[in-house]
Amino acid sequence: MSACDVVVIGGGLSGLVAAAAAAERDKKVVLIAKGVGAIAVGSGSIDVLGYEAGGKPVARPLAEMGKLPSNHPYARAGKQATAKAFEFFLDLCEKGGFPYSGSADVARWVPTAIGTLKPTCFLPRSMDPAPLEAAKAAVVVGFRGLKDYYPELIIRGLMQVPAYPKRFRTVIVDPEMAGRDVNALDIARWLDTESGRHACIEQMLTGIAPGNVVLVPPVLGTVPNYGVLEEFEKATTCKFIEITGMPPAITGLRLYDLLVSEIKKRGVRIVEHATVTRAVVDNGRCTAVVTHGVDRERTHPARSFILATGGFYSGGLEAGVGSAREPVFGLPVKVPESQSDWSNAFLLSGGAQPFARFGLDVDARLRPTDGSGKAVFENVYAVGRTLSGFDDAFEKSGNGVAVVTGYRAGTLVA
Ligand SMILES: Cc1cc2nc3c(=O)[nH]c(=O)nc-3n(C[C@H](O)[C@H](O)[C@H](O)COP(=O)(O)OP(=O)(O)OC[C@H]3O[C@@H](n4cnc5c(N)ncnc54)[C@H](O)[C@@H]3O)c2cc1C
Repeated sequence: MSACDVVVIGGGLSGLVAAAAAAERDKKVVLIAKGVGAIAVGSGSIDVLGYEAGGKPVARPLAEMGKLPSNHPYARAGKQATAKAFEFFLDLCEKGGFPYSGSADVARWVPTAIGTLKPTCFLPRSMDPAPLEAAKAAVVVGFRGLKDYYPELIIRGLMQVPAYPKRFRTVIVDPEMAGRDVNALDIARWLDTESGRHACIEQMLTGIAPGNVVLVPPVLGTVPNYGVLEEFEKATTCKFIEITGMPPAITGLRLYDLLVSEIKKRGVRIVEHATVTRAVVDNGRCTAVVTHGVDRERTHPARSFILATGGFYSGGLEAGVGSAREPVFGLPVKVPESQSDWSNAFLLSGGAQPFARFGLDVDARLRPTDGSGKAVFENVYAVGRTLSGFDDAFEKSGNGVAVVTGYRAGTLVA
């Protein structure tokens, strides 16, 4: 097989952004992925830095990054690359016909499906909470049978938010999917159809009035554009806001589809349902990786490799008793000797979790290092959730780190 310039291993947000950045610089890129990654189940919002290590909310994420420890992925990527990465991401979304808004300078708080708020920075237009802040009253639309989405719970929580209205009411739409649990993907597919949209608008109009602000779960179509949003707003003269929902949150799936389509436009070849099982190494350089697909092994030679395989959840890191490892290159993952030091007793209320910070240590060029700080391979770069030094769930930085390090590695290999 002829060598390409770059093989990206992993099809989550960090791998997709890395592939886009390298391809934009005229590199021949192959992206290999066994699955789609967390992007397809998350909200699609780009959380940059929501909380300080002590748990205090961060108002100005970009400025706060200057205070992060030197092993944090944002510090490794550097201030300039961080700012450029977000510009690159916004440009990709714009070109893909699904523009995002926001800035890493200021945190924005968005409503969630459990009636709480979460800090983020970049959002699709359909999730912009600004109309809610300006409203005197709002309507929460629910869908009969939709799992993990309870309008009363949302209203109870949002009424406590000083900036939000104190009057809410509920409208329940029946998608006529009786006989089974309904998830957000079912509703979004229903709203992809003309008959579904008409039925939904007709039912909503029984409970909403012109000028209302209407909260809906993330179901306004599966396609990465604002077609359903615009049709709803035109037909009802209301403002619609998609709130973040439980997985599968369709806003994340839309971002995934957009990025896949953008990297294909840039000539990236995608190898799906293939697991990279090992690397071929020669004299401090990786020369190829080997995949195991449904049929046989294949070898993928390249000049550079970007490891975007995620953390423990996606199999990018593996934990054993008292040890952890990266399975493709066999790279070292530092962990405390005693396993009782890996976690806090309280998963959600005990603050940051030590295990969440486990990952690959890298140098200033994002190349994984050995115990002495030296790059293990000259031409292997690591990005996203594989990296050590940050707790994406606690500090709310997961997609931000994926975008920044993916972009940085994509430019470094070019
Ligand atoms: C449920 C959930 C919701 C979230 N919501 C948000 C949110 O709203 N906002 C936010 O900012 N962050 C959110 N996060 C965090 C954020 O999604 C992740 O931190 C970030 O997307 C990680 O991206 P990644 O590309 O590094 O890894 P992943 O998304 O884990 O992708 C890893 C990829 O590598 C592939 N892979 C793994 N091993 C191999 C192999 N050996 N060979 C080939 N492919 C391989 C996987 O199949 C996958 O494609 C959420 C996370 C979860 C789990």
